[in-house]
Amino acid sequence: MNIDILGSSGGVGGQSGSTSLLISNRILVDAGSGLGALSLERMRGIEAVFITHSHMDHISALPPFLANLFGHRTTPLPIYALPETIEVLKSCIFNGQIWPDFTAIPSAADPIIEFRALTPWQTLRHNELSLTPFSVEHTVPTVGYSIQDQNQHFVFCADSKSSAEFIDQLNRLPAIHTLMIECSFPDRYQQLADMSGHLTPQTLYNTVQKLLQAPQQVWITHLKPAYEDELRALFSQDTRFNNWRVL
Ligand SMILES: [Zn+2]
Ligand SMILES: [Zn+2]
Repeated sequence: MNIDILGSSGGVGGQSGSTSLLISNRILVDAGSGLGALSLERMRGIEAVFITHSHMDHISALPPFLANLFGHRTTPLPIYALPETIEVLKSCIFNGQIWPDFTAIPSAADPIIEFRALTPWQTLRHNELSLTPFSVEHTVPTVGYSIQDQNQHFVFCADSKSSAEFIDQLNRLPAIHTLMIECSFPDRYQQLADMSGHLTPQTLYNTVQKLLQAPQQVWITHLKPAYEDELRALFSQDTRFNNWRVL
């Protein structure tokens, strides 16, 4: 499995664009502004899109990305998401006002995209990859993804605060090689983090400590640009986070 981090910021103005991952050149997970740096050719090689939730930092590049596919597909591009997320994308984005309804263009019989509803814990297979969505704890319905091939198990937790349910979901997964998990705010904003469904260094550390099997690697993502320098300094100095990678 090849994992390209196209964007890992929790906003704009940070060291990268916002969340978007390309798995083995074929599967796109989220479509934040980081997707915009991908070449047209590589965009057109994407075979399926998996969205974690409807927040703008995870979907902002989805509409213009899809516009690049006209004339380059023979079948609709599948976009997988929770039913609630699909409803929001249809009513708030692909509504003919913000962006055209790509489920009916060029024609309803032969559209450029097709939404497919996900159910948590129902595994989908795409070539050599197995993708399993699982529920996380955010302010809107959100899933993380467990992505496996024969050699690797990569888990992307999307946006989530800490909770017993979230830890339980992670502990239902088989042994994790790489855990990509967010940290949005410094500890002094714990209340804001809890309200907005995000982690701080303290709750991130506690969450990982409660996993029954320690992941081989932890990748920290989704730093909010306003606190990015402060969080990077903390992660480089605080020995609790030795060997954790900050994206
Ligand atoms: Zn986010
Ligand atoms: Zn979010």
